[in-house]
Amino acid sequence: MATQEGIGIGDLVLLDEITLERIVDNLRVRYNGGKIYTYIGEVCVSINPYRSINIYNNDYINKYKGRELFENPPHIFAIADAVYREMKQQRRDTCIVISGESGSGKTEASKIIMKYIAAVTNLSGQQEIERVKNILIQSNSILEAFGNAKTNRNDNSSRFGKYMDIDFNFKGDPIGGHVTNYLLEKSRVVYQQNGERNFHCFYQLLNGCSEAEINKLRLVRDSAAYYYVSAGNFNKASSTDKSDYKTITSAMSTLGFTQNEVQTIWNVIAGILHLGNITFKLIDDRLFIENRTALNDTANLFSISAHELSTALTQRVIAAGGEVMQKAHTSTEAEYGRDALAKAIYERLFTEIVSRVNSAINVNDTETYKRYRTVIGVLDIYGFEIFDINSFEQFCINYCNEKLQQLFIELVLKQEQEEYKREGIAWQNIDYFNNQIICDLVEQPHKGMIAIMDEACLNVGKVTDEMLLEAMDQKLLDHKHYTSRQLKPMDKELQHKIQFKIKHYAGDVIYNINGFLDKNKDTLFQDFKRLLYKSSNPIISKMWPEGAQNILKTTKRPLTAGTLFRNSMIALVKNLTNKEPFYVRCIKPNEVKSPVVFDEERVNHQVRYLGLLENVLVRRAGFVYRQRYDTFLKRYKMISQYTWPNFRGGNDKDGVRTLMDEKGFSNDVKYGHTKIFIRSPQTLFALEKARSNL
Ligand code: ATP
Ligand code: MG
Repeated sequence: MATQEGIGIGDLVLLDEITLERIVDNLRVRYNGGKIYTYIGEVCVSINPYRSINIYNNDYINKYKGRELFENPPHIFAIADAVYREMKQQRRDTCIVISGESGSGKTEASKIIMKYIAAVTNLSGQQEIERVKNILIQSNSILEAFGNAKTNRNDNSSRFGKYMDIDFNFKGDPIGGHVTNYLLEKSRVVYQQNGERNFHCFYQLLNGCSEAEINKLRLVRDSAAYYYVSAGNFNKASSTDKSDYKTITSAMSTLGFTQNEVQTIWNVIAGILHLGNITFKLIDDRLFIENRTALNDTANLFSISAHELSTALTQRVIAAGGEVMQKAHTSTEAEYGRDALAKAIYERLFTEIVSRVNSAINVNDTETYKRYRTVIGVLDIYGFEIFDINSFEQFCINYCNEKLQQLFIELVLKQEQEEYKREGIAWQNIDYFNNQIICDLVEQPHKGMIAIMDEACLNVGKVTDEMLLEAMDQKLLDHKHYTSRQLKPMDKELQHKIQFKIKHYAGDVIYNINGFLDKNKDTLFQDFKRLLYKSSNPIISKMWPEGAQNILKTTKRPLTAGTLFRNSMIALVKNLTNKEPFYVRCIKPNEVKSPVVFDEERVNHQVRYLGLLENVLVRRAGFVYRQRYDTFLKRYKMISQYTWPNFRGGNDKDGVRTLMDEKGFSNDVKYGHTKIFIRSPQTLFALEKARSNL
């Protein structure tokens, strides 16, 4: 029911005819007219403009501050304000779930929301709160440097999931926060598909640090000199790598990282670059390190002994029957170990950075503080993706998107319909595709894909990826959303024995089974853990507490990557379910990052799988507005002589009925058990007008 701007319709609920075509058509008209935001009731649909538009300045902030959604043209600021008001006035924990495929604008949206919240809070200018806001905003650039990368879909693609709680005091000012990160795509540290890059930080270091630093780290500026950052054959520095290095160095200092911490971070990044250049050669059945300089540089930067690193890279210690023995690696094992080490070090560094960010933003954790705070959670996670080759990482990322879609279905499509029933209002059910079946396919105990992978991982060394695929085929033979060529009829796209297909809510994805077992098992030889624990740099040593363990002590098998991820997704959904959710649904207008192309087919597809049509239908078949009787009466009681200053003829519901009867609106509304439901926006406009004309 947004105010009309003359370009298309601001709220899809108000279209005269609700079809997929009309929705896409309206989005196109608006997009071409520079209007990237459109509502479905309180859901904000956002289309990536791929250009900077001047709609986020102070004038806009002032225009949206403290206003209801329908008072202004659609804007993400209006959603941010609604979330903020709900949190502040109702003292409820709220969250904003931003979803959409890779490159659709989720991360930008989350930053715009944070910027808005920072702009409308702390009007009294308290120093401490300013400091917290500054930290919250600056933490983004650090996390992006280490967690984002150029992919073929997006030049700044989030390769980790991020959920940030912003904590507010009773006055509604931000006083702290907390970041939770989800599964970093660490395989990128050692390999990138053609056209892609490693995480930004590597190139920022190579291009941005001083001559003295580059010498100290024993690096050369040319990224082509390092295997780990050149596998994707995309060695061009981005235009901002150099300046980003300065930005994040200064952000780290704002967050209170010590000089030592910053130096360690860059040492580890440089060490990984050298580590990637270590190669092996076999002489008389013995494995040697070919590139001693790379070995020495790596050891130096990790503050460990080069000799011990060399040993750990070429052989491993095994404990059997109370005895300890050395077992030499094959070259394949050594290469595997080297890459596993690089991935693990990077992952732990990232976790350390997140926890460092958290200790900077989690300013106050006392009980009193916790009791009186309310939070706004912002979820910005990797979008659904289909690459040429899709592996375990895409499997996890796409499963995560299934979970978020399920949450949307649960909260927007299902609960909305259930609310009508609960309120005793006649209702015709709207059908929608429920993707629960796909979530089950992946996560069900015993029968789901993660469980099948875990079972295969138990048989160390005996099961191959192909055998895993066979096991999945046997157990999932009849599943409607799973296909593989071994037992199913021929599918032209599936390559025998190494691929399987999942019919996701957002489209079919063919996965390549190679590497699934390893990535799920996620093993790192104990030798490396013990070695890094011995690092003379205490920051590095602290990241490897299990290295302290006696080698003969048997340890519990750690949970697999798949199971850890599933558990974290289930916890995330539970957390979001306990909050009042608001949605931003991001759409990618084209595949070529162009500000002028509106690819109708691509948009149509996204509108379809995001369930926007069903969203509009549910919203429209129902009522455009609903409100609890007490809240409604509080807002409008001044417009009726019977309800102002107080209604004395009964309860709030009677009061609302009397008011609406007097104003002649009763034909357009239904009275539920606890809420009033208004069918058309005109009625709401009229009420608002009556209120402002007083
Ligand atoms: P991923 O899932 O890969 O992380 P994403 O949905 O987070 O993708 P973004 O990184 O937010 O996508 O957006 C991709 C790019 O699109 C941005 O780097 C920016 O260039 C452009 N973009 C997105 N939203 C906007 C906006 N509101 N204004 C201007 N440019 C934008
Ligand atoms: Mg992103």
